[in-house]
Amino acid sequence: MKIIQHGDLSRLSLVKRFRCALCGCVFEASEFEYLPTPSAWKNTYNMPGTDFMAKCPECGSFVSEENR
Ligand SMILES: [Zn+2]
Repeated sequence: MKIIQHGDLSRLSLVKRFRCALCGCVFEASEFEYLPTPSAWKNTYNMPGTDFMAKCPECGSFVSEENR
């Protein structure tokens, strides 16, 4: 078998990386530590394309998933 284009295995990872816009903290959250972003939140906080959010471990604000 010959691979024409390599896949990105990190896309399959359940660990997601987040960057806090308030305090600048960058952290990774595993499957049970982040939540799907409700569509109402996306509209209210203007987070287009953000599917997941997690709570910043340092300042406690909600953070959207960092775009890869
Ligand atoms: Zn923070």
